[in-house]
Amino acid sequence: MIHAAGVRKNFGPLEVLKGVDLTVSKGSVACIIGPSGSGKSTFLRCINHLEEVNSGLILVDGNFVGYRLQGDTLHELPASAICQRRAEIGMVFQHFNLFPNMTVLENLIEAPVRVRKEPVAQAREHALELLRRVGLEAKRDVYPRNLSGGQQQRVAIARALAMKPKVLLFDEPTSALDPELVGEVLEVMKDLAQGGMTMVVVTHEIGFAREVADTLVFMDGGVVVEKGDPKEMIANPTSQRTRDFLGRVL
Ligand code: ADP
Ligand code: MG
Repeated sequence: MIHAAGVRKNFGPLEVLKGVDLTVSKGSVACIIGPSGSGKSTFLRCINHLEEVNSGLILVDGNFVGYRLQGDTLHELPASAICQRRAEIGMVFQHFNLFPNMTVLENLIEAPVRVRKEPVAQAREHALELLRRVGLEAKRDVYPRNLSGGQQQRVAIARALAMKPKVLLFDEPTSALDPELVGEVLEVMKDLAQGGMTMVVVTHEIGFAREVADTLVFMDGGVVVEKGDPKEMIANPTSQRTRDFLGRVL
């Protein structure tokens, strides 16, 4: 579902990604861990067309991110096509990013109606089904400011799902939450994983990674230092850098 090869990205002279390779098969979950500044968010943003890579390629469900293959040549996609492709990839951020001036239900309906051109009645029905799934149907007419952080993040996940994405990317979805609210968000994510959603999750929740991820990826200094089976890697990291990092967070 996701295939990244040799992805490099710099901001001016600062090289942030130095050749990242990652494959995530359909229906599987990859968790990315690593120190702050190692390029985790930038990598997710590259997958989601929010950053243009300097070299290397990313494929999502067989489509090149930012490009269209014609014969043997890659052509840059126009902005409108990028918008469409981006709509196939859901993203959930640390700070929820809900629309503050819209109710929960309106937050879920906005993009399907505007971007996917879904009829309002259909978008509404799907939205209610998703709110049931994340346990927030009763909050449909409430504004985000009147929800707890955990509830806001569950709405943000439902909003991403409303676009029927092929892939869901999570960037530290529980890092901004009070500790007692982390569990309810991880439960929703676990439920999605078990339902067969393809997910890439940047997280510091090692317990979640151990239990839910099919692949654990350790990034440091703009490269993937080590990846593998989460339980094996946590118990027995092969690289000293992974060992040092795990020693700090466990
Ligand atoms: P992580 O998510 O692993 O903490 P990031 O991908 O956010 O790391 O950042 C990696 C590095 O890239 C950091 O040094 C950060 O300051 C830098 N960086 C990220 N975005 C930008 C940007 N838009 N312009 C300049 N530097 C950036
Ligand atoms: Mg980050």
